[in-house]
Amino acid sequence: MIVGERKPMEELLGMIEDFERILVLGCKGCVTVCCAGGPKEVKTLSTLIRMDRKQKGRKVITIEASTELQCEPESIRPILEKMANQYDVVLSMACGAGVQTVAKLFPDKLVLPALNTNFTGIAEEHGVWTEACLACGDCVLGRTAGICPVTLCAKGLLNGPCGGASEGKCEVSKDQPCAWQEIYHALKRLNRLHYLKQKPQVKDWPVHPGRVVREDLREVETT
Ligand code: SF4
Ligand code: SF4
Repeated sequence: MIVGERKPMEELLGMIEDFERILVLGCKGCVTVCCAGGPKEVKTLSTLIRMDRKQKGRKVITIEASTELQCEPESIRPILEKMANQYDVVLSMACGAGVQTVAKLFPDKLVLPALNTNFTGIAEEHGVWTEACLACGDCVLGRTAGICPVTLCAKGLLNGPCGGASEGKCEVSKDQPCAWQEIYHALKRLNRLHYLKQKPQVKDWPVHPGRVVREDLREVETT
């Protein structure tokens, strides 16, 4: 899932300073799961904004809403169109893709990000998430026992360790296990050590911005 965190309150309050009618817009997808931008967090942020304005003796109207997936145009269009005359600015609690989807669909409204989008990651335990995938577009997990060297190796090495690991820890960061050592042990456990002898894979690195076109889906839509 995409992991994000709410921006510091001071930064958020500065961004919305000029506005009196604010739509605080959450997303019920990834940012709800990582407790950063779901309906509960929308309510909390809304309350904090109102409290701040009350303290400053300034007027504010906050509208609270949450979309199913803010990165999905069909999910946001009806909500935002219905309330178009009720707000001057959208404070989006989605990831960067959600914020940009709203900005693209409603070019006449200013959309501000309430979250910092951190990474695509995994929930390790309650309140702890770690980065897991850089969305490189040419996944190698099939030959690395499900451990991503692009993301987890500090040097992003694809064809084996750099040789600098010490006691299982990465030479770049002693807090991190050496990804290639982990890959070795996992392949050994799975009786797949021969994968390491395979010819190095030439990686097809993506050009940004990435784009996926599925002609099969496009054909269905146009018929
Ligand atoms: S190789 Fe790593 S970064 Fe690339 S798609 Fe697979 S998990 Fe993501
Ligand atoms: S020690 Fe391991 S994880 Fe760290 S840079 Fe070298 S190969 Fe990558």
